[in-house]
Amino acid sequence: MNGETQGKQFLRSVHHYFDEAARHTNIDPGILEQIKVCNSVYKVNFPVEVDGKVVVYEGIRAQHSHHKLPTKGGIRYSIHVDEDEVIALATLMTFKCALVDVPFGGAKGGVKINPRTTSVEVLEKVTRRYASELIKKNLIGPGMDVPAPDYGTSSREMAWIADTYHTFKYGETNALGCVTGKPVGQGGIRGRTEATGLGIYYGLREALQDTEIIQKLHLNSGLSGKRMIVQGLGNVGFHAAYFCQQDGVIITGIAEREGGIFNPNGLNIQEVFRHRTESGSILNYPGASNVENSLDLLTYECDILLPAALENQIDQHNAADVKAKIIAEGANGPVTQAAEKILLQKGVFLLPDLYLNAGGVTVSYFEWLKNLSNVRFGRMGKRAEEASLRRIVDTIESTTGRSIGAKERKLLIHGADETDLVRSGLEDTMILAYHEMREVMRQTPSVNDLRTAAFFDATQKIAVSYHSLGIFP
Ligand code: NAD
Repeated sequence: MNGETQGKQFLRSVHHYFDEAARHTNIDPGILEQIKVCNSVYKVNFPVEVDGKVVVYEGIRAQHSHHKLPTKGGIRYSIHVDEDEVIALATLMTFKCALVDVPFGGAKGGVKINPRTTSVEVLEKVTRRYASELIKKNLIGPGMDVPAPDYGTSSREMAWIADTYHTFKYGETNALGCVTGKPVGQGGIRGRTEATGLGIYYGLREALQDTEIIQKLHLNSGLSGKRMIVQGLGNVGFHAAYFCQQDGVIITGIAEREGGIFNPNGLNIQEVFRHRTESGSILNYPGASNVENSLDLLTYECDILLPAALENQIDQHNAADVKAKIIAEGANGPVTQAAEKILLQKGVFLLPDLYLNAGGVTVSYFEWLKNLSNVRFGRMGKRAEEASLRRIVDTIESTTGRSIGAKERKLLIHGADETDLVRSGLEDTMILAYHEMREVMRQTPSVNDLRTAAFFDATQKIAVSYHSLGIFP
């Protein structure tokens, strides 16, 4: 687009969505400007020795909004990382956190590196050095800025970051809260790995129970029997597809970087994952046909299209050909601004990234809380809850004279453990946020799509927090 970089295009889209929502509010223009701009960006170039030679790597950390601290957002490893892209992603984080009532400002980081062609040793050196650069500038810490995994990074990189931080801040009780998405054995939380995908499932489930929406789309209620095409079989795409499949969704197509596969009768997501792990590719999966250009799959017939790989995947060139009734934005920014216009005109229902993939940051928030309190969720109450439930079951048995079977008894007296509590908090968050957006659409009839509603709701909340800080009395 006019030689515009992908990052610039992405940032322009995010700003456009904000402006669209802002014009429906009565918020002071100065406050709106402050809410929109990126508060700070740090760029650093650092050397790392690779095979006896010095290689210079570029790292970025953008903190979009300091209206609440810490700031929060993932770290992306990709050779395509650029400043505009990182700012766009940090901006989305601010609004995402506000929408789902996670008390953080938005941030994002990136390192220009290809994690697939870089050895684990070099990845570790780069990660630890990047973390050290952030520590030097006080740009990381449990009360300052808390990174998490994103595209190209995982719990492994988060463990390296936590360890590096701990080395510098030895003795700091809350040190583990400097980063989220860590392995469970190193201060992580159960349920974080699948959180974004599970949140997507909860969001889709909610939308498919929304009578007004499903009537407009001529769909019957519930996820069961709906046909879905997924782009990206990574953390987000795999888990979202897995939980949807558990609820009866038929996954007919999967698009990956090496190509796509299609089977109108459905693909078993776990089996495809296993096939990819073993053969190195999703292609040639038994019973499915290969799709050479995986982008073509985005325009195949289906009820739900789940882009869960990268931004700018549906643009002005392919939007008109999209046949899905629902687009579930698992990735950040998979639909460009120009494409959105076309899709909305076609009557496609768009579940925006801001809402739909907020499960990751929600559970990251729970992990941070766990790290600050230094206790596993459920540790104090689980046994007490079980004892109380046991007494109730015993009383029912003795008063009815009937014995409840061992299996049922086990289920009834189960006290909530960490996974149960995390999932309960996540489910509640996704349901509440969905209805908040729908309420905006009811209260402000000029807002007639979910993305504008999400930005509107988040902007109102951020404006209130600026007022309560006394920044704009
Ligand atoms: P990931 O690295 O685990 O997975 C990405 C997948 O996309 C990989 O399997 C990769 O091979 C595939 N892919 C790359 N290029 C592709 C292409 N051109 N066509 C098809 N597939 C392609 O990353 P992830 O964590 O799943 O993140 C995916 C998206 O979700 C990103 O936009 C990220 O910002 C967003 N997101 C992630 C989280 C999280 O918790 N991980 C939370 C919110 C949003």
